[in-house]
Amino acid sequence: MLEVETVDRILRVHGDGLPVLSLYARFDPDDRRAFPSRVDEQLHEVRLLLKDPALNRDARLSLRGDVARIEEAVTEERLHPQAVAFFSCSGRDLFEDVELPRPVHDRLVTDETAWVRPLVAVLDEYHRCRVVLVDRGLARFFDLYQDELVERGGPLRDRALRKPDYAAGMREHTTQNKAELLAKRHYRAVAERLDEEARRHEFDIVAVGGHEHEIPEFLDHLPAAVRERVAGTFSVHPREDDLGTIRGRAEEVVQRYERAEEQRLVAETLERCAAGGLAVAGLPDCLWAGATAAVGQLLVQDEVVQPGLVCDTDGYLAVEGERCPVCGRELRRTPDVIDELVQAVIDEGGGVEHVEADTPLREHVTAASLRFPLPARPAS
Ligand SMILES: [Zn+2]
Repeated sequence: MLEVETVDRILRVHGDGLPVLSLYARFDPDDRRAFPSRVDEQLHEVRLLLKDPALNRDARLSLRGDVARIEEAVTEERLHPQAVAFFSCSGRDLFEDVELPRPVHDRLVTDETAWVRPLVAVLDEYHRCRVVLVDRGLARFFDLYQDELVERGGPLRDRALRKPDYAAGMREHTTQNKAELLAKRHYRAVAERLDEEARRHEFDIVAVGGHEHEIPEFLDHLPAAVRERVAGTFSVHPREDDLGTIRGRAEEVVQRYERAEEQRLVAETLERCAAGGLAVAGLPDCLWAGATAAVGQLLVQDEVVQPGLVCDTDGYLAVEGERCPVCGRELRRTPDVIDELVQAVIDEGGGVEHVEADTPLREHVTAASLRFPLPARPAS
């Protein structure tokens, strides 16, 4: 699993004068033997670099160590990642091996810092979801992230009166008042814990599970900072033992929330575009925006593939043509120019959102909010 903490740690990696090697390689669980050669092919570049007489001794030693360390890590058993990223600076005793839940392009970068944009882009697509199962006397907390559900901290138990006969001798309405009071106190304690965790940025959204008739009262106890992160609620027995059941119901909540967020982003971007604001819709304008680093956030219809062309010199992107109108060189054909666009946006620090929901983006394929107005296009 790709942890936020891991990415934060990798973001801080610095070679202090030594090169940091970042290597990304696709991992195909159906063709595991392809992975070592994908990595080895890229390491070849480093082996050539090691022969460069301009390279100083410390950098050479460090890079040699990096190659050895990655060669060793490649042989490790892996379950089902879609890609693996290695970050290494052996001269500073740094090594990270990260499995990614989404495919990324093979790429090797040597720099003083780690090359993390693909990592950040993958993380962007996931919400850290806190799942809370709550009833009038018990609350259990889980993290749902990248298809994994993990119980987080111990449960919160408070005394609850469930049946009047628990309190022999008390008049029934007194017992009920007492039960209400204890439930409220419990809900407040759960709300406080969530509030603290929200302040520590431990999660982005919350899914609340429990008995349907009890959830509304619990939600009323949540402070605004937590309430606005509630992605949805689901019905489950608060003492449910089967993690698979809890995960399945919570995932449905997250999916619905993500589809709704996609709808909102598409609507906002298309409205801004129609109003003549800083946004574009459709592949031709988005490609030009990507080539000129104008994209703030790119919305891409998931699973749409569009063959096209790319200029390896200046990053010009197009659906058709032969020569680059910017530099006049011949364009390279690519089986999917949208993928090149996504990479370009990530390289320039923009955000990318893959849209699965059924929205008007299906007609446009791509749309983007812009950081500045599109520069004039070169005449082709
Ligand atoms: Zn060009």
